[in-house]
This record gives sequence, structure tokens and C-alpha cells, in this order.
Amino acid sequence: MFVRSFRSAALAALATTVALPAGSLPAQRALPTPASILGFEPGADRHLPSWKQIVDYFTAIDRASPRVSVRTLGKTTLGRPFIVAFISDSSTLANLDRYRQIQRKLMDPRLQAAGEREKLIDEGKNVILVTSAIHSNESGGFTTPLVLTDRLARAQDREARDILANTIIMLVPSQNPDGVDIVGDYYRSTLGTPAEGRDPPDLYHKYVGHDDNRDWYAFTQPETRYTVDSLYTPWDPQIVNDIHQQGSNAGRIFIPPYMDPIEPNIDPILTAATNGLGMSIVWRMTNLGFTGIGSNASYDQWSPARQYSLYHRGARLLTETASARLATPIDIPFDQLGAGRGYEAKTVSWNFPSVWPGGKWTYGDIVRYQTAASWALFLDAAMNRRAWLEGYAAQGDRALGALPAWGRDAWPSAIVIPKSQPDTQALRRMIWTLQHGQVEIRESTAPATVDGKTYPAGSYVVLTKQPFGAYAKTLLERQQYPDLFDYPGGPPKRPYDVTAHTLPLLFGVDVAHVMGAAPATGAPIKEIAEPTYTSVLSGKSAKRIALFRPSASEPIDAGWTHWILDVYKVPFTTITEKDLATGAPNDRFDAIIFPDGTLGGGGRGGRGGRGAAGGGGGDVFAALDAFANNGGSILAFNSSSSAMIEGLKLPVKNVLAGVGNNDFYAPGSILAVEIKRDSPIARGFAATVPAIWFENGPAFEISDPSVATAVASYPASGNPLLSGWLLGGSKLNGKAALVDVKHGRGHVVLYGFRPQYRGQSMATYPLIWSAIQ
Ligand SMILES: [Zn+2]
Repeated sequence: MFVRSFRSAALAALATTVALPAGSLPAQRALPTPASILGFEPGADRHLPSWKQIVDYFTAIDRASPRVSVRTLGKTTLGRPFIVAFISDSSTLANLDRYRQIQRKLMDPRLQAAGEREKLIDEGKNVILVTSAIHSNESGGFTTPLVLTDRLARAQDREARDILANTIIMLVPSQNPDGVDIVGDYYRSTLGTPAEGRDPPDLYHKYVGHDDNRDWYAFTQPETRYTVDSLYTPWDPQIVNDIHQQGSNAGRIFIPPYMDPIEPNIDPILTAATNGLGMSIVWRMTNLGFTGIGSNASYDQWSPARQYSLYHRGARLLTETASARLATPIDIPFDQLGAGRGYEAKTVSWNFPSVWPGGKWTYGDIVRYQTAASWALFLDAAMNRRAWLEGYAAQGDRALGALPAWGRDAWPSAIVIPKSQPDTQALRRMIWTLQHGQVEIRESTAPATVDGKTYPAGSYVVLTKQPFGAYAKTLLERQQYPDLFDYPGGPPKRPYDVTAHTLPLLFGVDVAHVMGAAPATGAPIKEIAEPTYTSVLSGKSAKRIALFRPSASEPIDAGWTHWILDVYKVPFTTITEKDLATGAPNDRFDAIIFPDGTLGGGGRGGRGGRGAAGGGGGDVFAALDAFANNGGSILAFNSSSSAMIEGLKLPVKNVLAGVGNNDFYAPGSILAVEIKRDSPIARGFAATVPAIWFENGPAFEISDPSVATAVASYPASGNPLLSGWLLGGSKLNGKAALVDVKHGRGHVVLYGFRPQYRGQSMATYPLIWSAIQ
């Protein structure tokens, strides 16, 4: 049963409905409850709130409670209000700007007057950002914030008073409001049918679906920008409480420490703070009777794509609570519980101190776990406010102190970015991207010589000795992911996500790392504007383009392709297998794009969108065969290229088909290729260091060179890895990464990679445009 309202954390653990005695809280009686706005208790079986109901509650509580101040930060991709609730003592909320200035000074020692630090630490608050429900099928995420806000607005107990007095909580009730309704509307429309509790067939964000939580350094989506621009940048919170859900069949909740590896540019203070806070939450929840809590499991601390705060002074406490079927309960007998990565849910271990006994698991249970974990986090933040602020200030000292700021590896003193680049849009995007993450960009005041090459005065310079110098370093250097295996001689230990994030390689921008004395520079330059992106196809294209997606499920890569076409203003039409099976596509289109995961059933190169089932049967390939023969262009990305080879019987072989992970492994890495610059498909390709984004892709061998041409190939010898992790790289030597196959009067272009990876691999976009041009 769900706890309706609570006066102490102990009551929460009892999981009983608690009614407050009438008249016990006279000053607070006018506060609206979530149920009075929703019409049901938050967490009630089979009742998901709509975004309007959630906004209505926050609007009402903003009016009624002096402890809650709600702001709208902008409109979402589909036009809904994106909101944040500031929660603290009324006296703190009345002076928010003063506390923001204290926070700013603590962050940057250059702003502190002599002897001022102690006073700042005495007066400052522990600032906590809660980002909830970035993944919209994790339905507790957009429900728990209602319960937390109600409790903080209403409570008079000691715990609540400590939290309100010592912290400023910035609560984002959903990082993707559009998805609350995309998932909720589908759920409500399928109640009582076999589809009840399933994910909708469309992505739950117009463009990026689940990848909205892979956008925390590229800032491609407005929702990411609202949180970064209005919350991270002005506040740089000490703690981020990131509320998620995981699968149903292992632990009930994951709480950090994270599993290895740890990205080396993360300040060790934050790794230690994350570990300490995580264990404090596990301890408090165990005190209250919660079970099935796993740590040091599944989730690593590698990528700024998810871990933005770990590069901006804030510990990120990711929690992942077991899912039900959206708001529909499930039953999991104990003997069907399985293993998480790093623990076994039927066995007690140091990082899994108590087993959950199995049985019914509900939406209300999810909210109860998430609420308890958040409350324990708030309590630790309140009680250890001084230690959090001391560690926060110490990070500022280290960022501006001697290099290396930590560790033993030599750090560059600066990275020089020449203004003369093969692609000026890419240069502008890189400078804009870095500045958007609070990186200071300067200009050199004298010529600088690096590795024998001289860069003129006025070149861009990023000093690593600056408040977020380690963040800049991680985005500008090449990642060296450690060789990790499940056991000696065993398979590679799968990373949680990808392993590389090197912007100069992804964007195709030349940079030079300065080891030794930094060049002379002026003050940081003003923020530049994001460029307007254009391509040869932008505007009113003469080419009629179709973007394919299977009707059953929209892969994320199709969403990203949609995004890039929209950003570059390239007109197109979305089609499904039905359009191909019934129509005469040459009458309607000149080119059809098949993103990763849209065709075929997988195999190597099979990972596309989460849960996506590729389309394509005999009818589809018959139609595509005719389309190319009649002069059409077919573009197939990553796994779809393997399916296209089989479906159209192309004279090309995927040499990685059937190769196991022990022999070849590249779980999201940047690889070197050589480009055949005189190929029409390489028109517009400008990068000095040709690099492609490779993630579980195929690699090609051409069996009939009279019709198939390699446009991009891996080097004939040596390790093709530029950034990230690659095992068995010699399997790629001399193989093709991009092949142009003549097919009748048209052609089929096979990309053994994702040329538009998450809206980031800008260097390889021209390989798309030119294949259509
Ligand atoms: Zn999630």
C-alpha cells in the first residue's frame, strides 16, 4: 500500500496509510495535496498523471506554500512548459540571488576576497539539483517529485526542518515533459488490452528517446539546455539526485558507488563524495526496512554524456529503482530473481546487504523507494552541509592550482585551436559547445609553437588551469578506456554506455595539446553564437528524400536522423514498410535513408534503438531492388547496411559477422579511416584526421570491384583506434567502412558506422549529403 503522507521517514518504511490528526498543523492546512489536484494518490495502481496535472499541482503549491517557488524555464520540443521548483526555507527563497552569489564565489576562488571563505562556508547552503524522469517510461520519476514536494511543503518535523534550513533543492519534476504524455496517453489508451504497460511505438522524445540522457555535453536538445543554462550554469550544485528506473528482475534499487571504470578527469573528491553519500543512503534505507539495495553495479562513471555534474563540482547520485509495467503491478517470485551486474539478487553480499523476498511489485513501491532514497540524500546533505561546501571549495583550489590537478599523468597546460580550420561551422560549434559547458576560451597574444608547428597570435586557447579545465580536457583529448574483462581470459567487461567523447575527432576540428608552458593569452572571450547549420541539401532541395522507420517501433537512430535533417533544414518524408510494399517509390522519392536498427533483425551491428525491432521482409527488398535499379539512392547506416547486403544480395561481405566479443570488441569508439577523396560521396568531407563513430558495426570486404567501391577504409596496418576502446583491431585492417555499390541505374551506400551519431559526428555528415546530392 502506498504511503499517503508522512511525518517521519520511519512511517514511510511501514508502508501504511497515515492520516495526520486533524488540526495538528494549523499553519499548513490550506496546502493542496497532490491527490486533490490529480484525483488519485500519486503511485496509485494504473493511474499515471498527465503533464498538465503535474504542472497544475506545482502551480497550486507555488501559490500556497512559502517553501516552494516554481519557475517555467521554457517550452519543450513539442511546446509544453518545462518547470523547476525551488524548495527551501521561505527566508532562503526570499534571498535566492544572495545564495547564488555565495555559491558562485565558493565555486571560483578568483572571486573570493582575502579571508572570505570561512564566512561563505558558514552562510552557504548545500545546493541539490533533482533531475527526474528524463526517461519517460520510468513512471515513478514523474510521480515521486509530487510526494517529495508535498512532504517538504507540509512537514514540521525535525528532519524536514533540517533539510529546509541547510539546503536549496532545485527539483525538475520531469526532464522530458513531452514524454510524460507520449507514454501516459498510450498507457491510458491501452488499459485493459494486451498492450497495457508496454512502451509506445514512437520515441518518447520527438527526436532522441532514451538518448535524451546522452546529451549532457553536446546540448543538442532544448530540454538539456534549460537545465544547463538555468540551473547548472548559475548554480553548479553540490549534489545531483538523478532519479531513474532499471529492469524488474534483480535488485529493487541501485545506489552508488558506481562500478569501474572512473573517467580520470573526474576530481577524486567527487568520487569519494559519491561513494560516501551513496553508502549513507543505503544505510538509512536499510534502517527503515528497505531491502534489495545494490551498489557497485551496472552503472559506471565514465562519460560526461550522462555525468555532467561530475565535471562541474557536483556528485551525481543516480538511483535506479526496479520497474513495474508503467503503473501496472507485476509479480516476481523470489526464485525468479536474477543477477544484476556485480551482485546476485538472491544472495547477500557487501554491496547487496539484504535480499528482497519477492512477490508483488507496484508503481507505489517504486515511488516509495525513490522517495526514501531522495529523503535520505536530502538528510545527509543537510547534516553534512559544511563538509560538502568545504569539498566544493577545495575543488576550486585544485582546478586553479598546480598541474596535474590530481593523479600522476602529465596534463597539457593548454589546448590550442587554430582559427583556420577545414570546416568553419564545425569550429564555431566546438567553441560554442565548450563555452556552453562553462569553459573559458581565450586567444593567444603571441605566436605559439607546438610540436614544431607555429600557430599565429589570435588562435583560440583553452587553459586546463581554469574552473572547469578538466571538463575541457576530457572533451578535447582522446580517451584511453582500460582493457577490462569479466575475469582473466574471459569476455570484455561491457561498459554501461560508449567509451569515447573526443569533440575534435567527432567534429573534424584540428587542435594541438601544449605540454609545458602555456601560451600567453588575453582574458576569456565573450560567448559566441551557435552557428546556423547548412549543407548542400539545406533549404528547398531538388532531391526528394524519404526517412525509413519500422511501424512497430521507432529506433533512436531514426530519431537522431530526423533531428539532423530538421536542424539542417533538409526536407524529407517519413515512411514505413507499408509505403514500400504498396507504393512505387521512384515516383515519390530519389533517396531513402535507413538508420541503424531500422532494417533486419540485428546480429553484429544490431544495436539500434532500445527495444527496436527492425522492419523489412521480402516485399520490402523487392521494392528496394526495383527502386535502386530505376535510379534511386539507398543509404543504409550501421546494422541496416548488413541487412541490406543480404536483402539485395550485394557483392559485399561483412567480415565481422559471427565474430565473438572475445575476438573483436568496439562498444562505442572513434576509429581512423582513409577516405577516397575523389569519390563523389566524399565531396564535402573536410576533416584533416578522418575518423568515424564505430559501435557494434559491420566491416566490409568487396567481392566485385566492378560495381562496389570503398569510399572509406581502415588503415592496412596498425591499430585503427583513435579514442575509446577497441579489442581485435587488426580484424579491421584493410577492410572498408563505407562502400558505394552500383545497383542498376541507382546505387546503394553502405555505412559500417553511424555517420550522424547522436547529433555529434559532424565530420561525417557530408558523407550523407553527398550520397544524396
Ligand atoms: Zn533511465
